Amino acid sequence: MPHGKKAGERCIQLDQQNRCLIFGMAERPQVCSSLRPSGEMCGNSNQYAFTWLARLEQLTTP
Ligand code: SF4
Repeated sequence: MPHGKKAGERCIQLDQQNRCLIFGMAERPQVCSSLRPSGEMCGNSNQYAFTWLARLEQLTTP
């Protein structure tokens, strides 16, 4: 995403199953590579994880 990803904006690298299309590739942003998932972050559903990530984005967006 040449102009960055705004909080709440779906990344263009997500496929239909919400998997990163550039996982393990040099093009993957450093912030993504450095993020370490945890049970607290992932929960047991996509909805839980997306809600958690949305909160994180709001806390870290200026
Ligand atoms: S890990 Fe980063 S590049 Fe990959 S889908 Fe998620 S936000 Fe996009």
